[in-house]
Amino acid sequence: MPTESKLNTDLSSAFDVVIVGGGLVGACLAIALEKLPLRVAMLEAQGGGAMPAVFDQRNLSFNEATLNALTHLGVLPMLSRPSGDIASIETSRVGDFGRVWLRAADYGRSYFGQVVVASDFGEALEKRLALVPNLTRLRPAKFVSSTLDGDSRVVVYSDASGAEHSLTCSLLVGADGAVSSVRSSLGIPSESFDYGHSLFVCRLQMRKPPAGIAYERLSAEGPIAVLPRGDGHFGLVLGVASDDVARVRGMSDAEYVAYAQDRFGYRAGEFVSVGERSVYPGMRVVASSVVADRAVLVGNAAQSLHPVGAQGFNLGLRDAMTLAELIEDGESSLGSAVMLSSYVSRRSADRDRTMQMSHSMATIGTAQDIASRVMREIAMVGAGRVKSVQARLVGGSMGYAGDVPRYCRSAS
Ligand SMILES: Cc1cc2nc3c(=O)[nH]c(=O)nc-3n(C[C@H](O)[C@H](O)[C@H](O)COP(=O)(O)OP(=O)(O)OC[C@H]3O[C@@H](n4cnc5c(N)ncnc54)[C@H](O)[C@@H]3O)c2cc1C
Repeated sequence: MPTESKLNTDLSSAFDVVIVGGGLVGACLAIALEKLPLRVAMLEAQGGGAMPAVFDQRNLSFNEATLNALTHLGVLPMLSRPSGDIASIETSRVGDFGRVWLRAADYGRSYFGQVVVASDFGEALEKRLALVPNLTRLRPAKFVSSTLDGDSRVVVYSDASGAEHSLTCSLLVGADGAVSSVRSSLGIPSESFDYGHSLFVCRLQMRKPPAGIAYERLSAEGPIAVLPRGDGHFGLVLGVASDDVARVRGMSDAEYVAYAQDRFGYRAGEFVSVGERSVYPGMRVVASSVVADRAVLVGNAAQSLHPVGAQGFNLGLRDAMTLAELIEDGESSLGSAVMLSSYVSRRSADRDRTMQMSHSMATIGTAQDIASRVMREIAMVGAGRVKSVQARLVGGSMGYAGDVPRYCRSAS
């Protein structure tokens, strides 16, 4: 609990924490703050009649650290459909030797993580958020700007009619995604990297049901992933070179099934049918700083990763859980420079390593020159055979590397 935090007194517009963005990370942060004597507001651009667009058909792989935190937050029991266990992961590349085959059983675990459809996750978060007593939800409420006023931030947002309102807070949290207005308003620059492909995402039915194996197949055109869902289907993620996106978009379902099977091969079995496809650009966006006076960026607003490593939310949740822990421990006052600098130092190693891992996975498959191919095959064969390399891969991708926030360490 913050020791020196001045609790705000104006009940209508003064808050301790204002979270902008009620997506995956912002919602989890609001839940994590529920037991603290704080007044928290969450602004979400999407109105209450529908879920934010991010809760779509994408398949989210939650690593073990994330599952631990979501258990503490009471979100997992709210899922109305079963999640799919990832008991092993096979990574290979079209046209190369070597593959990495990781089995959870070899590490004394029944699974590495679980796959949850984003729309199911959104419904579970919505049910859980309804039980949070100290949270004021404003929606539709579109963040417009923010200015510093002594020890507070003044936050301006617009409602459905376009009318503007203001709030004050001791700490502003930007959880408003990759195209973050909070980040721009704070004057924090960001760097973007275009991977040159887009990702087609859909539900896939195969001749046989999932058996707990997640497949990552790298290729020159972009990565492909086949993930075991809990509803008897698979999640298919298919990278398509930017100059071929229009052609693939135009395919009928039957043509798309044949195309995906041809690209992926038969190592997971025969593809039968697909659901509706959504398309996402393969981009990385990284903020040059994650803090400003009385403000912090978390989740995609701080770093938006290529989805191939399935790490974006896992990493963003560790941002949120670390911030919640610093606020709860109250070793420095809410939103102070000391608190923000602790946040930066606790997050930097995990952030750098996870961004690097995702970037390597997104690029290692596409390079075609001889030197890159040789290095790639050495890496794949090495990781496939050497236990210590595998152990590092497993520890990192399960979310246990570095300074792990408490909630992520264990489920109990
Ligand atoms: C195809 C695909 C697959 C993925 N798979 C995985 C995976 O397997 N595992 C994983 O860990 N991650 C995965 N990710 C990444 C994951 O989806 C993101 O990391 C996650 O959504 C980030 O959450 P966030 O809350 O930071 O941002 P978002 O989820 O983008 O939420 C931002 C919220 O802010 C709101 N907002 C935006 N602007 C404003 C404003 N001006 N005012 C108020 N509100 C605003 C938006 O409406 C939205 O609700 C995947 C991503 C994609 C595209």
